[in-house]
Amino acid sequence: MGEDLLQIDGSMGEGGGQILRSSLSLSLVTGKGFQIQNIRANRNNPGLRRQHLVAVEAAATIGHAEVQGADVASQSLRFQPTQITPGDYHFNVGTAGSTTLVLQTVLPALLRASGPSALLLEGGTHNPMAPPFEFLDKTFLPIIKAMGPKVNAKLDRHGFYPVGGGKIRVLIDPVPELRRIEILERGEVKMSARAVVASLPRLIAERELKVLKRDLRLDSSDLEVEEIRSPAPGNVAQVEVQSTHVTEVFTGFGEVKVRSEVVAERLVQEVKRYLTANVPVGEHLADQLILPMALAGGGALLTMPLSLHALTNIEVLKLFLPIQVHITTTDSEAVLVRVTSS
Ligand code: ATP
Repeated sequence: MGEDLLQIDGSMGEGGGQILRSSLSLSLVTGKGFQIQNIRANRNNPGLRRQHLVAVEAAATIGHAEVQGADVASQSLRFQPTQITPGDYHFNVGTAGSTTLVLQTVLPALLRASGPSALLLEGGTHNPMAPPFEFLDKTFLPIIKAMGPKVNAKLDRHGFYPVGGGKIRVLIDPVPELRRIEILERGEVKMSARAVVASLPRLIAERELKVLKRDLRLDSSDLEVEEIRSPAPGNVAQVEVQSTHVTEVFTGFGEVKVRSEVVAERLVQEVKRYLTANVPVGEHLADQLILPMALAGGGALLTMPLSLHALTNIEVLKLFLPIQVHITTTDSEAVLVRVTSS
Protein backbone atom coordinates (compact mmCIF):
# COMPACT_ATOMS: atom_id res chain seq x y z
CA MET A 1 0.00 0.00 0.00
CA GLY A 2 1.29 3.48 -0.88
CA GLU A 3 3.36 5.39 1.64
CA ASP A 4 1.52 8.66 0.97
CA LEU A 5 -1.45 7.66 3.11
CA LEU A 6 -3.13 10.40 5.13
CA GLN A 7 -2.40 9.83 8.81
CA ILE A 8 -5.47 10.08 11.07
CA ASP A 9 -5.46 10.01 14.87
CA GLY A 10 -8.64 8.25 15.95
CA SER A 11 -8.32 9.65 19.47
CA MET A 12 -8.67 13.28 18.37
CA GLY A 13 -11.58 15.30 19.77
CA GLU A 14 -14.45 13.00 20.60
CA GLY A 15 -12.34 9.93 19.79
CA GLY A 16 -15.34 7.87 18.58
CA GLY A 17 -16.38 5.87 15.55
CA GLN A 18 -17.40 8.89 13.49
CA ILE A 19 -13.72 9.70 12.83
CA LEU A 20 -13.41 6.33 11.09
CA ARG A 21 -16.74 6.57 9.23
CA SER A 22 -16.06 10.09 7.99
CA SER A 23 -12.53 9.08 6.95
CA LEU A 24 -13.99 6.21 4.92
CA SER A 25 -16.55 8.50 3.25
CA LEU A 26 -13.96 11.12 2.44
CA SER A 27 -11.41 8.59 1.25
CA LEU A 28 -13.97 7.23 -1.22
CA VAL A 29 -14.89 10.64 -2.60
CA THR A 30 -11.33 11.99 -2.81
CA GLY A 31 -9.55 8.73 -3.71
CA LYS A 32 -7.01 9.51 -0.94
CA GLY A 33 -5.95 6.49 1.10
CA PHE A 34 -5.54 6.79 4.87
CA GLN A 35 -4.11 5.10 7.89
CA ILE A 36 -5.94 5.53 11.18
CA GLN A 37 -4.50 4.72 14.63
CA ASN A 38 -6.20 4.73 18.05
CA ILE A 39 -9.62 3.87 16.61
CA ARG A 40 -12.40 4.81 19.07
CA ALA A 41 -9.75 5.41 21.74
CA ASN A 42 -12.14 7.36 23.97
CA ARG A 43 -14.83 4.67 24.06
CA ASN A 44 -15.18 1.99 26.79
CA ASN A 45 -14.78 -0.69 24.13
CA PRO A 46 -12.12 0.82 21.84
CA GLY A 47 -11.29 -0.45 18.38
CA LEU A 48 -13.54 -1.71 15.62
CA ARG A 49 -16.90 -3.22 16.63
CA ARG A 50 -19.02 -5.20 14.22
CA GLN A 51 -20.93 -2.10 13.05
CA HIS A 52 -17.68 -0.28 12.20
CA LEU A 53 -16.37 -3.35 10.42
CA VAL A 54 -19.45 -3.48 8.23
CA ALA A 55 -18.92 0.20 7.42
CA VAL A 56 -15.33 -0.64 6.43
CA GLU A 57 -16.50 -3.64 4.38
CA ALA A 58 -19.19 -1.61 2.64
CA ALA A 59 -16.75 1.19 1.79
CA ALA A 60 -14.12 -1.33 0.65
CA THR A 61 -16.60 -3.17 -1.60
CA ILE A 62 -17.99 -0.04 -3.23
CA GLY A 63 -14.54 1.55 -3.59
CA HIS A 64 -12.59 -1.62 -4.50
CA ALA A 65 -10.25 -0.75 -1.68
CA GLU A 66 -7.16 -2.45 -0.38
CA VAL A 67 -7.62 -2.79 3.38
CA GLN A 68 -5.41 -3.89 6.27
CA GLY A 69 -6.49 -4.22 9.92
CA ALA A 70 -10.21 -4.84 9.43
CA ASP A 71 -10.71 -7.13 12.42
CA VAL A 72 -12.90 -6.93 15.52
CA ALA A 73 -11.17 -4.80 18.21
CA SER A 74 -8.47 -3.64 15.80
CA GLN A 75 -7.31 -0.14 16.71
CA SER A 76 -5.60 0.67 13.44
CA LEU A 77 -6.62 0.39 9.81
CA ARG A 78 -5.20 1.17 6.39
CA PHE A 79 -7.62 1.90 3.58
CA GLN A 80 -6.81 2.69 -0.06
CA PRO A 81 -9.74 2.87 -2.48
CA THR A 82 -9.32 2.51 -6.24
CA GLN A 83 -12.57 2.99 -8.13
CA ILE A 84 -16.15 3.68 -7.03
CA THR A 85 -18.59 1.20 -8.52
CA PRO A 86 -22.27 2.03 -8.14
CA GLY A 87 -24.72 -0.88 -8.31
CA ASP A 88 -26.80 -3.25 -6.20
CA TYR A 89 -25.35 -4.04 -2.79
CA HIS A 90 -26.46 -5.95 0.29
CA PHE A 91 -24.75 -5.27 3.62
CA ASN A 92 -25.73 -7.10 6.78
CA VAL A 93 -24.64 -5.50 10.06
CA GLY A 94 -25.67 -8.76 11.68
CA THR A 95 -26.42 -7.46 15.16
CA ALA A 96 -28.42 -4.37 15.97
CA GLY A 97 -25.52 -2.25 14.65
CA SER A 98 -26.96 0.78 12.91
CA THR A 99 -27.90 0.42 9.25
CA THR A 100 -28.24 4.19 8.90
CA LEU A 101 -24.64 4.83 9.98
CA VAL A 102 -23.40 2.27 7.44
CA LEU A 103 -25.52 3.99 4.79
CA GLN A 104 -24.14 7.42 5.69
CA THR A 105 -20.61 6.06 5.29
CA VAL A 106 -21.04 5.07 1.64
CA LEU A 107 -23.75 7.53 0.60
CA PRO A 108 -21.47 10.52 -0.19
CA ALA A 109 -19.56 8.51 -2.82
CA LEU A 110 -22.75 7.11 -4.35
CA LEU A 111 -24.38 10.56 -4.59
CA ARG A 112 -21.84 11.50 -7.27
CA ALA A 113 -21.10 8.07 -8.75
CA SER A 114 -21.29 7.24 -12.46
CA GLY A 115 -24.66 5.47 -12.17
CA PRO A 116 -27.52 4.59 -9.80
CA SER A 117 -27.29 2.27 -6.81
CA ALA A 118 -29.72 0.13 -4.82
CA LEU A 119 -28.71 -0.79 -1.29
CA LEU A 120 -30.26 -3.35 1.03
CA LEU A 121 -29.05 -2.91 4.60
CA GLU A 122 -29.88 -5.26 7.48
CA GLY A 123 -29.36 -4.65 11.19
CA GLY A 124 -30.65 -1.97 13.55
CA THR A 125 -33.01 0.69 12.25
CA HIS A 126 -33.85 2.31 15.61
CA ASN A 127 -30.71 2.49 17.74
CA PRO A 128 -30.04 4.97 20.50
CA MET A 129 -26.92 6.93 19.44
CA ALA A 130 -27.62 6.69 15.70
CA PRO A 131 -30.09 8.29 13.29
CA PRO A 132 -33.39 6.37 13.49
CA PHE A 133 -34.93 5.50 10.13
CA GLU A 134 -37.50 8.34 10.26
CA PHE A 135 -34.75 10.89 10.90
CA LEU A 136 -32.92 9.57 7.84
CA ASP A 137 -36.06 9.61 5.72
CA LYS A 138 -37.71 12.87 6.79
CA THR A 139 -34.83 14.99 8.10
CA PHE A 140 -31.51 14.07 6.48
CA LEU A 141 -32.40 12.78 3.00
CA PRO A 142 -34.73 15.65 1.99
CA ILE A 143 -31.77 18.02 2.44
CA ILE A 144 -29.51 15.73 0.45
CA LYS A 145 -32.19 15.69 -2.28
CA ALA A 146 -32.25 19.50 -2.24
CA MET A 147 -28.57 19.22 -3.24
CA GLY A 148 -29.54 17.42 -6.48
CA PRO A 149 -29.43 13.60 -6.18
CA LYS A 150 -32.59 11.53 -5.92
CA VAL A 151 -32.54 9.27 -2.88
CA ASN A 152 -35.40 7.08 -1.78
CA ALA A 153 -35.36 5.12 1.49
CA LYS A 154 -37.83 2.47 2.54
CA LEU A 155 -38.16 0.70 5.88
CA ASP A 156 -39.01 -2.95 5.20
CA ARG A 157 -38.70 -4.11 8.80
CA HIS A 158 -37.94 -2.40 12.11
CA GLY A 159 -34.83 -3.54 13.96
CA PHE A 160 -34.62 -2.36 17.56
CA TYR A 161 -31.61 -2.41 19.84
CA PRO A 162 -30.24 -4.86 21.01
CA VAL A 163 -31.54 -7.64 18.71
CA GLY A 164 -31.75 -5.76 15.41
CA GLY A 165 -32.97 -7.77 12.44
CA GLY A 166 -34.34 -4.72 10.62
CA LYS A 167 -34.13 -4.04 6.92
CA ILE A 168 -33.93 -0.85 4.88
CA ARG A 169 -33.70 -0.29 1.14
CA VAL A 170 -32.20 2.80 -0.43
CA LEU A 171 -32.22 3.84 -4.09
CA ILE A 172 -29.72 6.47 -5.16
CA ASP A 173 -29.77 8.35 -8.43
CA PRO A 174 -26.59 10.45 -8.48
CA VAL A 175 -25.62 13.82 -9.96
CA PRO A 176 -22.19 14.93 -11.23
CA GLU A 177 -21.96 17.78 -8.70
CA LEU A 178 -23.85 18.56 -5.51
CA ARG A 179 -25.65 21.90 -5.32
CA ARG A 180 -24.67 24.28 -2.52
CA ILE A 181 -27.44 25.04 -0.09
CA GLU A 182 -28.03 27.38 2.82
CA ILE A 183 -30.42 26.64 5.67
CA LEU A 184 -30.65 29.82 7.65
CA GLU A 185 -34.23 30.39 8.75
CA ARG A 186 -36.73 28.33 10.61
CA GLY A 187 -40.10 30.02 9.89
CA GLU A 188 -43.39 28.76 11.34
CA VAL A 189 -43.40 25.32 12.92
CA LYS A 190 -45.98 22.56 12.88
CA MET A 191 -45.61 19.64 15.29
CA SER A 192 -46.92 16.09 15.48
CA ALA A 193 -46.03 13.02 17.51
CA ARG A 194 -46.13 9.28 17.06
CA ALA A 195 -45.24 6.38 19.27
CA VAL A 196 -44.33 2.96 17.94
CA VAL A 197 -44.69 -0.27 19.89
CA ALA A 198 -43.30 -3.48 18.44
CA SER A 199 -44.61 -6.60 20.15
CA LEU A 200 -45.31 -4.51 23.27
CA PRO A 201 -48.56 -3.25 24.84
CA ARG A 202 -50.27 -0.32 23.09
CA LEU A 203 -50.60 1.34 26.49
CA ILE A 204 -46.87 2.22 26.43
CA ALA A 205 -47.38 4.33 23.31
CA GLU A 206 -50.55 5.90 24.72
CA ARG A 207 -48.78 6.94 27.93
CA GLU A 208 -45.95 8.53 25.95
CA LEU A 209 -48.33 10.42 23.68
CA LYS A 210 -50.31 11.69 26.67
CA VAL A 211 -47.18 13.41 28.02
CA LEU A 212 -46.18 14.75 24.59
CA LYS A 213 -49.69 16.12 24.03
CA ARG A 214 -49.75 17.84 27.41
CA ASP A 215 -46.21 19.27 27.44
CA LEU A 216 -45.97 20.28 23.77
CA ARG A 217 -49.65 21.37 23.55
CA LEU A 218 -50.43 19.10 20.61
CA ASP A 219 -53.92 18.41 19.25
CA SER A 220 -55.31 14.88 19.46
CA SER A 221 -55.38 14.82 15.65
CA ASP A 222 -51.58 15.23 15.63
CA LEU A 223 -50.98 12.05 17.62
CA GLU A 224 -50.53 8.58 16.20
CA VAL A 225 -49.93 5.13 17.68
CA GLU A 226 -48.27 2.56 15.46
CA GLU A 227 -48.39 -1.11 16.49
CA ILE A 228 -46.04 -3.36 14.57
CA ARG A 229 -44.41 -6.76 14.68
CA SER A 230 -40.62 -7.01 14.62
CA PRO A 231 -37.96 -9.65 15.40
CA ALA A 232 -37.54 -8.08 18.85
CA PRO A 233 -39.70 -5.91 21.08
CA GLY A 234 -39.09 -2.21 20.86
CA ASN A 235 -40.56 1.21 21.44
CA VAL A 236 -39.80 4.71 20.21
CA ALA A 237 -41.67 7.96 20.63
CA GLN A 238 -41.00 10.62 18.01
CA VAL A 239 -41.85 14.28 17.61
CA GLU A 240 -41.76 15.75 14.13
CA VAL A 241 -41.22 19.51 13.86
CA GLN A 242 -41.86 20.79 10.35
CA SER A 243 -40.59 24.25 9.46
CA THR A 244 -39.94 26.12 6.22
CA HIS A 245 -36.86 24.20 5.04
CA VAL A 246 -36.40 21.35 7.50
CA THR A 247 -38.44 18.63 9.16
CA GLU A 248 -36.67 17.68 12.38
CA VAL A 249 -37.47 14.30 13.95
CA PHE A 250 -36.66 13.88 17.64
CA THR A 251 -36.70 10.40 19.14
CA GLY A 252 -37.11 8.98 22.64
CA PHE A 253 -36.15 5.33 23.02
CA GLY A 254 -38.16 3.10 25.32
CA GLU A 255 -35.93 1.25 27.78
CA VAL A 256 -36.51 -1.63 30.15
CA LYS A 257 -37.13 -0.23 33.67
CA VAL A 258 -37.66 3.34 32.43
CA ARG A 259 -41.27 4.53 32.72
CA SER A 260 -42.97 5.61 29.49
CA GLU A 261 -43.61 9.04 31.02
CA VAL A 262 -39.88 9.49 31.62
CA VAL A 263 -39.04 8.51 28.03
CA ALA A 264 -41.55 11.12 26.83
CA GLU A 265 -40.40 13.81 29.28
CA ARG A 266 -36.78 13.46 28.11
CA LEU A 267 -38.00 13.79 24.55
CA VAL A 268 -39.99 16.91 25.46
CA GLN A 269 -36.81 18.48 26.88
CA GLU A 270 -34.95 17.81 23.63
CA VAL A 271 -37.76 19.28 21.52
CA LYS A 272 -38.03 22.34 23.77
CA ARG A 273 -34.28 22.99 23.56
CA TYR A 274 -34.61 23.02 19.77
CA LEU A 275 -37.73 25.20 19.77
CA THR A 276 -36.15 27.71 22.16
CA ALA A 277 -32.97 27.94 20.08
CA ASN A 278 -35.09 29.22 17.17
CA VAL A 279 -32.75 27.71 14.55
CA PRO A 280 -33.69 25.41 11.66
CA VAL A 281 -30.97 22.77 12.09
CA GLY A 282 -30.87 20.65 15.26
CA GLU A 283 -27.75 19.23 16.88
CA HIS A 284 -27.67 15.85 15.10
CA LEU A 285 -28.56 17.16 11.67
CA ALA A 286 -25.79 19.76 11.97
CA ASP A 287 -23.07 17.17 12.50
CA GLN A 288 -24.40 15.13 9.56
CA LEU A 289 -24.74 17.98 7.03
CA ILE A 290 -21.28 19.51 7.23
CA LEU A 291 -19.73 16.69 5.18
CA PRO A 292 -22.19 16.92 2.25
CA MET A 293 -21.84 20.71 2.32
CA ALA A 294 -18.06 20.34 2.11
CA LEU A 295 -18.48 18.01 -0.89
CA ALA A 296 -20.66 20.62 -2.57
CA GLY A 297 -17.75 23.06 -2.12
CA GLY A 298 -19.70 25.24 0.30
CA GLY A 299 -22.93 25.90 2.14
CA ALA A 300 -24.26 27.32 5.37
CA LEU A 301 -26.57 26.38 8.20
CA LEU A 302 -27.89 27.98 11.35
CA THR A 303 -27.84 25.63 14.30
CA MET A 304 -27.41 25.17 18.04
CA PRO A 305 -23.99 25.15 19.75
CA LEU A 306 -21.96 22.50 17.94
CA SER A 307 -21.40 19.17 19.67
CA LEU A 308 -17.92 17.75 20.15
CA HIS A 309 -19.06 15.18 17.58
CA ALA A 310 -19.57 17.94 14.97
CA LEU A 311 -16.34 19.75 15.86
CA THR A 312 -14.38 16.51 15.53
CA ASN A 313 -16.03 15.78 12.20
CA ILE A 314 -14.95 19.20 10.94
CA GLU A 315 -11.32 18.41 11.85
CA VAL A 316 -11.52 15.16 9.84
CA LEU A 317 -13.03 17.00 6.86
CA LYS A 318 -10.20 19.51 6.83
CA LEU A 319 -7.66 16.69 6.60
CA PHE A 320 -9.17 15.45 3.32
CA LEU A 321 -10.66 18.50 1.60
CA PRO A 322 -9.42 22.03 0.90
CA ILE A 323 -12.23 23.66 2.82
CA GLN A 324 -12.68 26.16 5.59
CA VAL A 325 -15.43 26.03 8.16
CA HIS A 326 -16.33 29.36 9.75
CA ILE A 327 -18.26 29.11 13.01
CA THR A 328 -19.90 32.27 14.32
CA THR A 329 -22.04 32.51 17.41
CA THR A 330 -24.83 34.92 16.57
CA ASP A 331 -26.35 34.94 20.05
CA SER A 332 -26.22 32.64 23.06
CA GLU A 333 -28.12 29.84 21.31
CA ALA A 334 -27.58 30.26 17.57
CA VAL A 335 -24.45 29.25 15.69
CA LEU A 336 -23.84 30.00 12.01
CA VAL A 337 -21.70 27.40 10.26
CA ARG A 338 -20.43 28.47 6.86
CA VAL A 339 -18.39 26.07 4.72
CA THR A 340 -16.22 27.55 1.95
CA SER A 341 -13.59 26.07 -0.32
CA SER A 342 -10.16 27.49 0.41
P1 ATP B 1 -19.11 4.99 18.38
O1 ATP B 1 -17.73 5.35 18.75
O2 ATP B 1 -19.78 4.11 19.39
O3 ATP B 1 -19.20 4.44 16.98
P2 ATP B 1 -19.76 7.54 17.41
O4 ATP B 1 -18.89 8.58 18.02
O5 ATP B 1 -19.38 7.09 16.09
O6 ATP B 1 -19.92 6.31 18.40
P3 ATP B 1 -22.20 8.82 18.09
O7 ATP B 1 -21.64 9.98 18.80
O8 ATP B 1 -22.87 7.84 18.92
O9 ATP B 1 -21.18 8.02 17.23
O10 ATP B 1 -23.17 9.40 16.95
C1 ATP B 1 -23.38 8.79 15.72
C2 ATP B 1 -24.21 9.64 14.80
O11 ATP B 1 -25.60 9.40 15.07
C3 ATP B 1 -24.04 11.15 14.87
O12 ATP B 1 -24.02 11.67 13.56
C4 ATP B 1 -25.26 11.63 15.61
O13 ATP B 1 -25.68 12.93 15.24
C5 ATP B 1 -26.29 10.61 15.16
N1 ATP B 1 -27.39 10.48 16.12
C6 ATP B 1 -27.32 10.02 17.39
N2 ATP B 1 -28.55 10.04 17.97
C7 ATP B 1 -29.41 10.54 17.05
C8 ATP B 1 -30.81 10.83 17.05
N3 ATP B 1 -31.57 10.61 18.11
N4 ATP B 1 -31.35 11.35 15.92
C9 ATP B 1 -30.59 11.59 14.84
N5 ATP B 1 -29.27 11.33 14.78
C10 ATP B 1 -28.68 10.82 15.86
